[in-house]
Amino acid sequence: MLDLHVHLIGERDRPATKDNIRAYLDQAVRKGLKEIGFADHDLYWEDLRLELFKEVAPEYPELAVRVGLEVDYRLQDESKIRALLNSFPFDFVIGSVHEIEGWAFDLPGEEKIHRDKDADTLYREYFTLVAQAARSKLFTTIGHFDLIKIFGVRPRTDVLRLADEALTAVEENDCALEINTNGRYKPIGEFYPEKRLVAEIQRRGIAITLGSDAHRPEVVGRDLDEVVEELKLAGVKEIVGFKGRKQALYLLG
Ligand SMILES: [Zn+2]
Ligand SMILES: [Zn+2]
Repeated sequence: MLDLHVHLIGERDRPATKDNIRAYLDQAVRKGLKEIGFADHDLYWEDLRLELFKEVAPEYPELAVRVGLEVDYRLQDESKIRALLNSFPFDFVIGSVHEIEGWAFDLPGEEKIHRDKDADTLYREYFTLVAQAARSKLFTTIGHFDLIKIFGVRPRTDVLRLADEALTAVEENDCALEINTNGRYKPIGEFYPEKRLVAEIQRRGIAITLGSDAHRPEVVGRDLDEVVEELKLAGVKEIVGFKGRKQALYLLG
């Protein structure tokens, strides 16, 4: 079992220190994880101390500690992102769309705008950006694939049609998609992505990884046992972790 989406410093809630890293790794061990991947927001780049992970990791020989980054994808930032990603040997990089034309749509307080907008337009705009993120070839992983549902607004059109182009881009560019359990604790109250999308992801043979999106140590690994059981019941045989930006298979036994 693995958790490839945890935020050491949260939303700048705590500093990047060895003791704080240990708090996350202790919880990972308690949860029986084999692999944990740190992916702080690129927004906080100046506060990250990426070299510390490799210094603490040897204290936890039973755990593979991976170093990644969660990047806010914006079309106009691609060259800036590329330069950032070339400056450190990341194990994985999550590309996430949190913004539509400068609107940070997933922040608490943005719900009214979701309700006022045409739902199909909202989903189309979002998934167009997700497709572009996948085509940029900057990322090993696309984060919380259907984040646009965060406040519970559902499209009129079948989400499988609205997400089709983004799924094809993910597939053609060998990105992985994560089952991200954090959605259960947002107004929508369910994991990202929803089950019908997970079935389609499986049908297309897109690699699946797992993430709690923990912003504090207690949340590491949250609900991932449940996800693994669901995936096994659905016939998924393997999921992926990452090392050196390459996928590494884990069999679900
Ligand atoms: Zn995110
Ligand atoms: Zn995140």
